[in-house]
Amino acid sequence: MTQKSIFQRIIDREIPAQIVYEDDRCLAFRDVNPQAPTHILLIPKKPITSIATLEDADAALVGHLWLVIRDLAQQLGVVDGGYRVVVNCGRDAGQTVDHLHFHLLAGRTLDWPPG
Ligand code: AMP
Repeated sequence: MTQKSIFQRIIDREIPAQIVYEDDRCLAFRDVNPQAPTHILLIPKKPITSIATLEDADAALVGHLWLVIRDLAQQLGVVDGGYRVVVNCGRDAGQTVDHLHFHLLAGRTLDWPPG
C-alpha cells in the first residue's frame, strides 16, 4: 500500500493544521512555512497527485477549487492588494507533496518572474 501523503493525513485529522476553510470537496489551511504574510494551501479531498493526473471528470472539482480561492481571498481581505495562486507540478517546479495543492500568496509584493 502506498504511504499517505502529509496532506491526506491533514484531511484525516492525523496531524494538525490551521484550517481556514472546509467543505465536502476541499480543505484550506495555513502553510507551515509561509512565503508571504498570507500563505494558504487549498487541496481537494480527492487524492489527486498533481495537475498531471487530473482527469476530465475532475473539471467540476477544479472549477469549485477556483471559486473557493476567489471567496477565500475575499474573506482574508487580500483582494484589494492582490494575490497570487501557484500550483507546482513535478520536480522542476519544486512540487514536494504529491497531493494537488494551490498556494494562495498575498500580503507583500511578489516578484515576477518567480525564482
Ligand atoms: P510544494 O512545494 O508546491 O509541493 O508545496 C508544499 C507546501 O506544503 C510547502 O509550502 C510546505 O511548506 C507545505 N507543508 C508541508 N507540510 C505541511 C504541513 N504539515 N502543514 C502545512 N503546510 C505544509
